[in-house]
Amino acid sequence: MNTYSKPILVIGAGVSGMTAALETAELGYNVILVEKEAFLGGRVLRTYRYFPKMCPPTCGFEINVRRMRQNPRITVYTLSTIDEISGRAGHFAVRIRTRPRYVTGSPSLDDTVLAQLKSERPNDINFGMDKTKAAYLPLNMAYPPYHVVDRDALSSEDADTLLKLAPAGAIDLNMAEDEIEIEVGAVIVATGWRPYDATKLDNLGYGRCKNVITNVMMERLAARDGPTGGEIVRPSDGKKAENVAFVQCAGSRDENHLPYCSAVCCMASLKQVRYVREKNEDSKATVFYIDIRAVGRHEKFYYDMLEDPGVSFIKGKVAEIQEDPGSGNLILDVEDTLMKRILHQGFDLVVLATGVVPNTADVPIPFDLKYDAYGFIDGSASVDGVYAAGCAKRPCDVSKSVKDAMAASIKAIQCLDRGE
Ligand SMILES: Cc1cc2nc3c(=O)[nH]c(=O)nc-3n(C[C@H](O)[C@H](O)[C@H](O)COP(=O)(O)OP(=O)(O)OC[C@H]3O[C@@H](n4cnc5c(N)ncnc54)[C@H](O)[C@@H]3O)c2cc1C
Repeated sequence: MNTYSKPILVIGAGVSGMTAALETAELGYNVILVEKEAFLGGRVLRTYRYFPKMCPPTCGFEINVRRMRQNPRITVYTLSTIDEISGRAGHFAVRIRTRPRYVTGSPSLDDTVLAQLKSERPNDINFGMDKTKAAYLPLNMAYPPYHVVDRDALSSEDADTLLKLAPAGAIDLNMAEDEIEIEVGAVIVATGWRPYDATKLDNLGYGRCKNVITNVMMERLAARDGPTGGEIVRPSDGKKAENVAFVQCAGSRDENHLPYCSAVCCMASLKQVRYVREKNEDSKATVFYIDIRAVGRHEKFYYDMLEDPGVSFIKGKVAEIQEDPGSGNLILDVEDTLMKRILHQGFDLVVLATGVVPNTADVPIPFDLKYDAYGFIDGSASVDGVYAAGCAKRPCDVSKSVKDAMAASIKAIQCLDRGE
């Protein structure tokens, strides 16, 4: 049991950061968990189901939230980032910056109040496929379960409405940014990933053709709390998607974009093929691939899919996607390298399996850490007292992220126990 007073800082509260925080706190150590969004859960919470079990991500999340609620050793800062870290193992000084939520959390807001607001904002969780009110709950399962006000989107008229209709004390539009200085003994970086920017893949039509979407958008389309209530429909006309193409390695394993394999996209697409087939039994799905990377126990997931007559696999890299302006259908040009033929094939929806980019490529941690050429934290060049976990280190699935987080937690605890 811990006798050392300094806490461990965990940056990022996706599955990696939440796991690291919980495992550390449950061993008796204090944890400061800092998350830049308004809610915990990271990217996994935005998926519809997760492979290989195909259960909703909320199952594991609910268990983690319960563990977190029961553990007084974890202090959570949402809407927060790290401005500065200095010092060394056992003695880090950290400056946290917290953005205002404008909602106090007690008493809570209810939807009848929000319904009175006119101001809206694009729903970033749903990649702009729908809008929310300027005061909104980011996700149904959001934890902490508090709304947020987008101050830039809120008109002055709606600010008055909100203040008038919300229960007294629920809204504070004078909240300001805050800075908190703390001392910690070790740091776990679990800042995760973002999707590769598909607009850079000009030949694949994203942004140019309405019915070309990305894999992360597909997760939201399939989700019941997504923009279409879980219906997989075409953005151009709302028609049910019946003939869907999945384009693998959209950016990944490509010297001009992401030279590395993003590791999860094959399994993510196989999973999404199941969404399409399960939601509409008359639908067809075609996967265009370089090679399918479904290794270990994931191989069965792939082999089961090969038995489905509604699913085709074509080995070939898609060269070009064009839109038929009348129907909004997409024409894919691709060389089928096994059958040695050039295809010119039509679909009503195309899903690009865009890859995984580390968030640290855009915003490095404000401390002298080593990164690889793509911005992932280089685990082999570790700094004593700072440990990375999950997709901050390399693209990986949930199961690997969880194991990684446990390992980082042990390393951080060992650092504290050395009592440096
Ligand atoms: C389309 C798609 C589908 C997928 N489906 C599955 C699946 O079904 N099963 C599966 O096992 N894996 C799946 N994955 C992989 C899965 O998303 C990752 O394994 C998982 O997100 C890794 O968790 P993480 O905590 O490392 O990163 P993230 O989920 O990215 O969490 C990182 C957290 O850190 C926060 N953060 C970032 N920067 C900062 C900062 N500077 N300060 C504070 N906080 C910060 C972020 O807001 C976020 O909350 C899928 C991936 C893709 C691309």
